[in-house]
Amino acid sequence: MKRAVFPGSFDPITIGHCEIIERGLDVFDEIILAIGINADKKYMFELSERKKFLEETFKNHSKITVKTYQGLTVDFCKAEKAGFILRGLRNILDLEFERSIAETNFKMEQIETVFLLSSGDKAHISSTIVRDVMRNNGDYKFLVPSPVRKKS
Ligand code: ADP
Repeated sequence: MKRAVFPGSFDPITIGHCEIIERGLDVFDEIILAIGINADKKYMFELSERKKFLEETFKNHSKITVKTYQGLTVDFCKAEKAGFILRGLRNILDLEFERSIAETNFKMEQIETVFLLSSGDKAHISSTIVRDVMRNNGDYKFLVPSPVRKKS
């Protein structure tokens, strides 16, 4: 049984995340979508809303569960008996950033990180851009799954 944790802020979830999660199902038997709680970070959407968006988006997927966690991602993986972390890579900047985290996680707890490359048409999408478009009343609906679209 290969269980992976896909950690993130999901503020909000985008179709970029969805692609990586759906493709991850070809690699893993189970994926836990894990919303990391960081008390110092300011979010656009409340934790309960971000969680609801994830739950509604994947409500028909029995191999996907949604959880929240505090503290180190590797500690959460251990508690959930997940041997893998799933992450998406959009560009070289993601790679630079992710590499050091992945190496640290492996050294700490031998948790292997598996990266999937986003497809070309989704590599430009980030939650940051979605939030900017939302704040400025632009059309963000093509960037997010339907539960977030229905928000307004
Ligand atoms: P974090 O707060 O850790 O940056 P995010 O919610 O922004 O969390 O992202 C979680 C994961 O989703 C990361 O691995 C990130 O690289 C990946 N991701 C985000 N947007 C995309 C995208 N458009 N294509 C592929 N992967 C993505």
